[in-house]
Amino acid sequence: MFSKILIANRGEIALRIIRTCKVMGIPTVAVYSMADEDSLHVRFADEAVCIGPPAGRESYLNIPRIIAAAEITGADAIHPGYGFLAENAEFSEICRESGIKFIGPSPDMINRMGNKSLAKSTVREAEVPTVPGSDGVVKDLAHAQQVLETMDVPVIIKASAGGGGKGMRIVRDRADFEKQFRMAKAEAESAFNNGDLYIEKYIEKPRHVELQVLGDQHGTVVHLGERDCSIQRRHQKLIEESPSPAVSPELRQRMGDAAVSAAKSIRYEGAGTIEFLLDANNDFYFMEMNTRIQVEHPVTEAVTGVDLIREQIRAAAGEKLPENGFPLPEGHAIECRINAEDPAHDFRPSPGRIETWHQPSGLGVRVDSHAYQGYMIPPYYDSMIAKLIAYGATRDEAIDRMQQALEEFVIEGVATTIPFHKRVMRHTKFREGDFDTHFLETFE
Ligand code: ADP
Repeated sequence: MFSKILIANRGEIALRIIRTCKVMGIPTVAVYSMADEDSLHVRFADEAVCIGPPAGRESYLNIPRIIAAAEITGADAIHPGYGFLAENAEFSEICRESGIKFIGPSPDMINRMGNKSLAKSTVREAEVPTVPGSDGVVKDLAHAQQVLETMDVPVIIKASAGGGGKGMRIVRDRADFEKQFRMAKAEAESAFNNGDLYIEKYIEKPRHVELQVLGDQHGTVVHLGERDCSIQRRHQKLIEESPSPAVSPELRQRMGDAAVSAAKSIRYEGAGTIEFLLDANNDFYFMEMNTRIQVEHPVTEAVTGVDLIREQIRAAAGEKLPENGFPLPEGHAIECRINAEDPAHDFRPSPGRIETWHQPSGLGVRVDSHAYQGYMIPPYYDSMIAKLIAYGATRDEAIDRMQQALEEFVIEGVATTIPFHKRVMRHTKFREGDFDTHFLETFE
């Protein structure tokens, strides 16, 4: 096992990783930017190293400074969390060259899955269903138009290097295609420094259903059930739950088998997520694989009782997955992302000082957060300040507990998404489990 782990991240996920390290008896090193001196992860870690100014590229994305921090403190492993360097193949490679274990996949696995069109062709060979569309990247506009002719509209143009819901364009009218293609290309070039595009059939009213997988270095891959992440705003997840109200045991079996095949096709190690779109006919299509821990991992933890960070660390240390697998999921869990954003004003960011902070608790309630009363939310990073997770024996019980927890949660000084979540929990369609990725477009 590792003798010391450096956490190359901030916020709630840094704290989350430190907690598990403490439980496992592994000393921790936090790194922080000058904007995060007062962040809880800095206080909770055994050691902390300031790695630079607030801007991400000067701190949490600055590979030489992070490696130097690991070398100075004698850390023999780095956990990247999510975002920042978590899916950066170069970082994984540099860790390897520096003799530090990257708690995540190899550079090759990240490259294979990080490029979305390459990922699709890789899993297609493993007989995993993928969204119909261009066979890999389209070379140019002429090639794209040729592909379009073989497809029905609507289609979606996507950036190969895309992420975070950015760089996607839906085309309903063929006459619009050229314009949308050019815009998508420009957007992808500026956002991802990579203008490669591919085309997919646009699935109407899909649900976003993703499978949690775990792999070890001995070739075993298992899945821990699904998460439904259909409640999204501009392709960004806001509420996630496990299990999905739309997935029957038979469908779970099929999706689970497909997810395991996809992960096995690259001999995947550690925690990963296979994302599918599920259509109204219960057909599902591989969309992408995330080669890291996800924001929404706690809903899987709640229904399985498995500490996913611990499993990531164990897998990275070369340990085997448990011989008899994991217990079957039980009950139901929901997560609401509490962002410092104002839902009354188009979710605009609301950084500032938290004047009052009272977080809920009680049976089946979990709060993962780095914030506290008096905490100043820096404007430089993402706006998530807490994850609220409610668990119950049934979906109804989980929603009731979530409603009560949202009532108890008091945050003053900044606007948050709490009022929005309260409305969703009361919504009849949400209660009935009857929703797709467009739920919020007709929410008002
Ligand atoms: P990102 O990596 O940017 O999050 P994804 O490929 O995971 O992008 O897609 C994000 C969301 O966009 C999905 O959850 C879904 O709501 C929507 N989406 C992506 N591809 C399609 C498609 N082919 N048809 C319909 N919706 C799609």
